[in-house]
Amino acid sequence: MATLTNISSTNNNTNLQNSKDLQNIACNKNNDKSNPINTEIVGYGNLPKDTVSFGNTQEYENKQNKKSGLSKTQKFIVGAGLLASAIVGGIFIKGRLNNKELVKLAENIKFEPAKNIEDAKAFAKTHLGIEKFDVDNLDVANWVNEGLVFVNNKRLGKAIMPKKVAYENFDEKAMAAMNSNGTLTINKANIGDIDNLLNKSIEAMPFIRRFENGTVKISKNLQTPQLQNLLNRFCKSKDLSFCEKVELYQNIASIKDMIVLIGTKPSLTLKQLFNDKEISEQIKKAGLKYKGKPLELEEILKQNKEEQDAILTEIATSLNIKFTRKSNKFDIIVHEMGHSEHQRNCKNFQNLSKSEEQIKIGKEVSEETKEFLENENIQQTALKVSPYSTESPAEFVAETYKDLINGKTHTEDVMELYRKYEGPPV
Ligand SMILES: [Zn+2]
Repeated sequence: MATLTNISSTNNNTNLQNSKDLQNIACNKNNDKSNPINTEIVGYGNLPKDTVSFGNTQEYENKQNKKSGLSKTQKFIVGAGLLASAIVGGIFIKGRLNNKELVKLAENIKFEPAKNIEDAKAFAKTHLGIEKFDVDNLDVANWVNEGLVFVNNKRLGKAIMPKKVAYENFDEKAMAAMNSNGTLTINKANIGDIDNLLNKSIEAMPFIRRFENGTVKISKNLQTPQLQNLLNRFCKSKDLSFCEKVELYQNIASIKDMIVLIGTKPSLTLKQLFNDKEISEQIKKAGLKYKGKPLELEEILKQNKEEQDAILTEIATSLNIKFTRKSNKFDIIVHEMGHSEHQRNCKNFQNLSKSEEQIKIGKEVSEETKEFLENENIQQTALKVSPYSTESPAEFVAETYKDLINGKTHTEDVMELYRKYEGPPV
């Protein structure tokens, strides 16, 4: 199976039937719930009718006849914009941590869920050296402790734990943040009302459709057994634990990041597809055409964004390309730990954050961040890790750290970039 970091193609044939679910779900969020399978299809952008053809022309014709004007990724964006776009968290930049205050931790800590808040606090203090653990919700407290233990054990006791864990309302978008003075803050506004957050996220996601009887359908291009299972259980049997809800949220958030990225920079994803040998083979085999000629990356990249978006949609639906990423229930915590460790490992850390974060604290956007955002090769490499990684060197490092902690390996170009920004050793 071809595997790009986020994109893998699981299907060699150009079975257009596969794309139907995707389209049906995409365009019918508000339609009659008693008739879930509506045949209206979201269109393919500005692609003229005769420019792309498939092996199975009949089906292609049918699809063309049903199309509407709005492109799939435009649709993506419309929905994604509404999603409480909580990504894995921010970083606050002020000062640096004092390395002298490090606590030596055991290489392998055994996690036991606490039965009450006092026990959770005692666990954080005794095993993780966290003096101030101000979390008043037992599920959240256990999740944080278990997540930190997970990182500790992967790092064989070498990870630097937060000095303080807080559970407070802060920025409505983030799930958690690592303050440079060593405080890990979990955003109560989102995590504390995870059911509501999930309901809003599912509602806002155009490619997930929920029915009154609790059934959930997700487009084939975004579906994984893990996501389908969690969604079914959240919507129907309602038996998800707190940690599973976080995991489900992570899954949805990573899809959202992906579709927003596809919508804003389709060329990045197109390059990724064409650079994947197996997928580019499949594109050839499928006989996909543009302006009467076989699809060529170079030609596509000359087109405007809308056209690229349309072509990308066509490729994704006809080859049933999966835009998915496996998520872990501790991703939020591990990502923040990535920032924390990176900060200690890198003198230049302050110049690596997102441009808007730098502007917010009255700085000019650093050369490092500018280069990162403007250099196509760097962006391409970062996208191998995740869409969110493309936002700044700091997010790239935190996302890569997260993958490494999760046991995932990355190609040499990714690791080279990780070292360039002094990503912490894992
Ligand atoms: Zn981050």
